[in-house]
Amino acid sequence: LTPVPSDIEIARAQKPKPIQRLAQEIGIMDSELEPYGSYKAKVKLQLLKRMEHQKNGRYVVVAGITPTPLGEGKSTTSVGLTQALGAHLNRNVFACLRQPSQGPTFGIKGGAAGGGYSQIIPMEEFNLHLTGDIHAITAANNLLASAIDTRMFHEATQTDEALYRRLVAKKKFSKPQLQRLEKLGITKTNPADLTDDERRRFARLDIDPSTITWQRVMDTNDRYLRKITVGQSPTEQGHTRETQFDIAVASELMAILALSTDLADMRDRMDRIVVAADKQGNPVTACDIGVAGALAVLMKDTIMPTLMQTLEGTPVKIALKLVGEDGFVVTEAGFGADIGMEKFFDIKCRQSGLQPSAVCLVCTVRALKMHGGGPTVTPGAPLAKEYVEENLDLLRAGLCNLTRHIENVKKFGVPVVVAINGFATDTQAEVELIREAALSAGAADAVSCEHWANGGAGAVGLAEAIVRATDAPSDFKLLYDLDLSIEEKIEKICQDIYRADGIEISPEAQRKIAMYKAQGYGHLPICMAKTHLSFSHDPALKGAPTGFTVPIRDIRASVGAGFLYPLCGTMSTMPGLPTRPCFYDVDIDPATGVIDGLF
Ligand code: ADP
Repeated sequence: LTPVPSDIEIARAQKPKPIQRLAQEIGIMDSELEPYGSYKAKVKLQLLKRMEHQKNGRYVVVAGITPTPLGEGKSTTSVGLTQALGAHLNRNVFACLRQPSQGPTFGIKGGAAGGGYSQIIPMEEFNLHLTGDIHAITAANNLLASAIDTRMFHEATQTDEALYRRLVAKKKFSKPQLQRLEKLGITKTNPADLTDDERRRFARLDIDPSTITWQRVMDTNDRYLRKITVGQSPTEQGHTRETQFDIAVASELMAILALSTDLADMRDRMDRIVVAADKQGNPVTACDIGVAGALAVLMKDTIMPTLMQTLEGTPVKIALKLVGEDGFVVTEAGFGADIGMEKFFDIKCRQSGLQPSAVCLVCTVRALKMHGGGPTVTPGAPLAKEYVEENLDLLRAGLCNLTRHIENVKKFGVPVVVAINGFATDTQAEVELIREAALSAGAADAVSCEHWANGGAGAVGLAEAIVRATDAPSDFKLLYDLDLSIEEKIEKICQDIYRADGIEISPEAQRKIAMYKAQGYGHLPICMAKTHLSFSHDPALKGAPTGFTVPIRDIRASVGAGFLYPLCGTMSTMPGLPTRPCFYDVDIDPATGVIDGLF
């Protein structure tokens, strides 16, 4: 329709199929499905066993140029491409998208179900609690946080003997306690046999509070929780501590969920989570705290992916097996390709062993103009004329951002197709200019598409280009070897992907790097915490900056998830709300239950 109605109007106009029917159509057996209401279901991992001999389909990752406030449309393009491959080119296809966080949904950005005629439905359910995975992460995370503070309190307020007696109240050791004894080199399994010294060593974790890296989390943008003091009630006897909340989706448990291959793998990762160091500098784990099993129990259902559908009835979420050898799985790497795609390859694909077939790199004419020096946008104000009228000079100046991302994809040996996410104001000459630059930078193709306005039909050209680009297997290679030192791995990412001159490691980060090496974590891959708004660490530097040195302020470890994360500059792990948040528009009609204002 013209004009294109609001996202929620479009989403609601399409009646979704019952989820059981959808599952049947795509070859999921009844026994493999766990419905959550009428239009969404969890898929049990036993399906993978049944299909283990099936060859994998083609794995396409949608990434973007460096984000601008104008929005690039990665989710919309993921859904549009999926609809085009499925409903228009008759290929088996799934889109695998992450569930939106409540933070952005009610904060600045809004939901993440795609937009226009390229959306996942029912979008209210997708954008709200879905099947409760984020709540489960929050519950598990906070149980561990509570366990850490409580354990420190008990160790501080009880004698060795009282502490020991309470810890082994049932007169025998629990499984995590046996693991702890083993770690301490104590081979006895009968509590009666332990010497006084062994009892003391066993009972005291001796956590150094200044080393605690495990924070409490919630899925709300709440800047007032960026720094808090806990333990202020008189019952805690003055054992207060400064700490903070992070947004739930930035937690290690979220990363563990994203990387776990099955329940056994998830359970092992829970044991490995490092929450602090003891006073001798040894890592203290969730296993030492005795909570790893409970975490796995709280998160057991999250590991099953949720099945939903797009506007054109193409199934959403999982799996390369179901689509078969000639089918496609479309997934999304958030932020700009320098962040999202690099991690997708070097962390996700490294751990899963899956071979990516192609990258779909999304850009828009207007965002490239902003990289070329276009005026800043004020929320709520009309867009400057540079963005809605032809301006080839500005566009030409911004193309360096796109071409650098293309060159970066090629370093991984994967073909890249550029999707020019079309706006009504784009001109033929502007599209042609992007196409020429993309092709000469080495893109396999560059296609303008109108899936936002026309659904899958608008992305048929893009889908055909993706099919051609994936007809031959990719020559995928990782950027760095895990055997390199921590410093060398960081430097390689900063120089090869961000194009920095080098890195500058703060004394604090140097001390932590030495500690992680000593603790045996030097072999982990690197998950850079850098602004997504620039190739550099400075969000103000648009386009393709050069001549900068990346400061490594600090470095932390997510041992359960399996990576180290250096912090470049200051990064907030708890977003705030804007003056005019999205929640102003959200309401429900009590008579019909219809939700308004989610987008
Ligand atoms: P990303 O995944 O890159 O953050 P989204 O796909 O979520 O971006 O899109 C951001 C917003 O922009 C959504 O509200 C979407 O409806 C809108 N949008 C995306 N593409 C277009 C387009 N071609 N024309 C108009 N609006 C669009």
